[in-house]
Amino acid sequence: MGPRAQAHGHKGLDTWTHGPEPKGPRARVHGPMGPVRTQVQHDYRSFLGLGLLQKVINWARVGCLPEPDEMNFLLADGCSCSIDPMQICLKHVCRCEMCRNHGATHALCQWRQHALEFLSKKFPALLGDPQELHKLTYVQVAECHGITTFSSPRERNALNIISRLPKVGPLESTLANYDVSQAIYRANLKVDGSVGTMPTGAVIYSLRDAEVLTVPMMAKLMGRDVTNLAAPMSAVQYKRMLGMSFHPACAGMVLAAFLAAIGSSLAEGS
Ligand SMILES: [Zn+2]
Ligand SMILES: [Zn+2]
Repeated sequence: MGPRAQAHGHKGLDTWTHGPEPKGPRARVHGPMGPVRTQVQHDYRSFLGLGLLQKVINWARVGCLPEPDEMNFLLADGCSCSIDPMQICLKHVCRCEMCRNHGATHALCQWRQHALEFLSKKFPALLGDPQELHKLTYVQVAECHGITTFSSPRERNALNIISRLPKVGPLESTLANYDVSQAIYRANLKVDGSVGTMPTGAVIYSLRDAEVLTVPMMAKLMGRDVTNLAAPMSAVQYKRMLGMSFHPACAGMVLAAFLAAIGSSLAEGS
């Protein structure tokens, strides 16, 4: 058997046919004969070049009690956002309708209720741990390293919670990305190197990079090039257009399936 025929596995399910089976993550995709295992060569970070940026964030500090220098930063910063959504931070005031009508210290917000339900379902032990309120959160660790995150308490709390999910860790090597525009119970979170469906208002956040994917990045992930725009438009207009558009490769598959269906119906009719 020659090297080109050394397919691994059986029934032709593996897609690599030359040389030893490569190491690294694999994805299960659907081919014409059913599910196919294929080697993941790129994830959204490598595709966008995010891994090339030299950001040094000691993510191992998330969930630890602060060291003296971190405590100094937190005291000077004045933020008390935590993993507990019922904790009111006077630096990051909520501007939801409830808080506007009843005052920002009453914690009547819907998002707080959703986050509390999410937490009690996913981490019942965390809520009952009195030490937890004193431990460093995701947002605090990012800000200790000079990274600006969000000013909205809902988004800050969501990142503090999502970053503690076992499937997200360890943060220093995670491929997790999360749409912070969505309510937490929808948890539009991907950890396999791909990016989830991007509705028009999506704000996709890469947790390892502490960075929101920009509109040109989202366009690139959808197979589009913002440098070839036919007419000038704002980022908001372009994002709206992206939200309504097909990924070119998906559109090609739909067209191929459509033509195949026409072809088979013509063959049956002849
Ligand atoms: Zn805060
Ligand atoms: Zn509120």
